[in-house]
Amino acid sequence: MEHVDVPSFQEAVSEYLIRHRSILDCISKFDEASARVNRAIIKAVTSCGCVRISASRQTFPPDASLADLKKYTASHLDGTLCPECREVVESEFGRALFYIAALCDLLDLDMEQIMEIERRRLSTLGIFSLT
Ligand SMILES: [Zn+2]
Repeated sequence: MEHVDVPSFQEAVSEYLIRHRSILDCISKFDEASARVNRAIIKAVTSCGCVRISASRQTFPPDASLADLKKYTASHLDGTLCPECREVVESEFGRALFYIAALCDLLDLDMEQIMEIERRRLSTLGIFSLT
């Protein structure tokens, strides 16, 4: 698959946006796209069944070190997405990313720069970034 860099993605979205430039449209479409991502994941559980949610309170041994915490933190998810659900979830993420790029473009924000700042923030936080 061809590598897509963030600036070229944002540029492609920007060109596409010429006919749909309202920030109000983009805000509501992003909200809808985000809800559709959640719905696609839920459908994988409730309609397909390829993944299951098995949740309970997170418990940690009292003597666990900070570095060990990840080992004791559960995803509450069993199984893996089947090819069909994977395709739907990926497609909905794609739409959500489209509207993130669109909002960045309308607000004159650089999506790649935002990602780089966030990446740096995460590497600074290191083990403390569990949330
Ligand atoms: Zn499935």
